[in-house]
Amino acid sequence: MNAPRPGWLPRFEEKIDKPENLDECWIWTGALDDSKYGKFRLPTGSVSGAHIISWELANERQVPAGWHVDHLCRVRQCVNPDHLEPVPASENTDRGTSFSAKNSRKTHCPRGHEYTDENIRWHNNRRECITCIRARDKERRDAKRQERVDNFGFEIE
Ligand SMILES: [Zn+2]
Ligand SMILES: [Zn+2]
Repeated sequence: MNAPRPGWLPRFEEKIDKPENLDECWIWTGALDDSKYGKFRLPTGSVSGAHIISWELANERQVPAGWHVDHLCRVRQCVNPDHLEPVPASENTDRGTSFSAKNSRKTHCPRGHEYTDENIRWHNNRRECITCIRARDKERRDAKRQERVDNFGFEIE
């Protein structure tokens, strides 16, 4: 835990009502979003879930793009990292059978990757190109990582 602390950290921490017993919920006293989760504006202007920031600071790691941070304690305003657990967003990978004939005739994705058994994922009865999905995920991850570096002043993964 020797990473440099970002300058906004005191502003973040002063909004946390830490209990005497640190095993209990740490209640966020700052702004809440519509779903009653704590939110915090980072220096680049983006707003993040307070619980997400808290988990990332404690673990010095970024929550993977597309993952949620679950509250094990069910207290949405809680930002105690020990009560938080990142989980992958549930994926709909049902293999549909009623895709259209037009769709089934295509042999390549719009970007020209071949539709092989290994390169297809079914989503809502439509084929998706796994190569494209991976590329999109990577772009999203890279963008998010860079944003985190801009905000935190250091790589947290
Ligand atoms: Zn809690
Ligand atoms: Zn593709």
